[in-house]
Amino acid sequence: MKVWLNGKLVDEHEAALPVFDHGTLYGDGVFEGIRIYNGKIFQCQAHIDRLFDSARHISLAIPYTKQELIDAMRETLDANGRDDGYIRLAVTRGAGTLGLSPFKCPKPNAFIIAASIELYPQEMYRKGLAVIIAKTVRTAAVMVPPSAKTMNYLNNILAKIEAVNAGVAEAVMLNTEGNIAECTGDNIFILADGKLITPPTSAGILVGITRGVVMDLAAKLGIEVVEKDITPAELYEADECFLTGTAAEVIPVTKVDGRNVGSGTPGEMTMKLTAAFRDFIEQQ
Ligand code: PMP
Repeated sequence: MKVWLNGKLVDEHEAALPVFDHGTLYGDGVFEGIRIYNGKIFQCQAHIDRLFDSARHISLAIPYTKQELIDAMRETLDANGRDDGYIRLAVTRGAGTLGLSPFKCPKPNAFIIAASIELYPQEMYRKGLAVIIAKTVRTAAVMVPPSAKTMNYLNNILAKIEAVNAGVAEAVMLNTEGNIAECTGDNIFILADGKLITPPTSAGILVGITRGVVMDLAAKLGIEVVEKDITPAELYEADECFLTGTAAEVIPVTKVDGRNVGSGTPGEMTMKLTAAFRDFIEQQ
């Protein structure tokens, strides 16, 4: 596999970051995960825009233009002959000294990996996913902002460990208010009283690009979409639930903390939106 590293395509075994890179030392950097469907970079502009927004948030000056990074993604896909799959585009703070100061890191490192990803087994897309509500609380916006997609994912990883220890594949994370924020790598939707409900950005979430696509598709299908706080009780009592994300796509949730969601099988609205999402991808 060829990896794009700071403007050059190199063999994956040569694609290494210095141990003094603050991305390596402190998780100081930003990234995007992006799908490739039928040779096209899905929601390319939205991902590039979010990368630059995240970088601005952490005062990281990306040493490339948006177009240069788009071209670099294309180059990486072509070099690996990839028409479908998943791109990881990351920009780290770069090598510096020991000590936190990012101002001692003169040059960010940027890399692009074009590979594949399977977050959940295919069977779960048909039968649904069981989740738990994690004890690990999602970092609040005044701490590490969830709206910036930084390389600092330990908060989410701690919740993922809880999920795996509980024998399920994903965890729902609450915010410091006790409301539902999101999952470790996906946004969450419930169906209640015929309305599709998803936590607002003020709940402290990554504003998912898949979330946005699904909200638009729902609106086009005439489904009412509401962004509002969701309590754990509302999740337990929801008629349907599903998660969205670049890697996850749209996946039904059929159990929360051992309780069935609705009838315990993927809901009708969830299946309708999954189909609409697949059509949308095909039309790209
Ligand atoms: N929340 C978190 C914490 C994530 O890591 C992701 C995946 N990047 C998402 C939500 C979904 O975002 P997107 O649809 O943009 O991939």
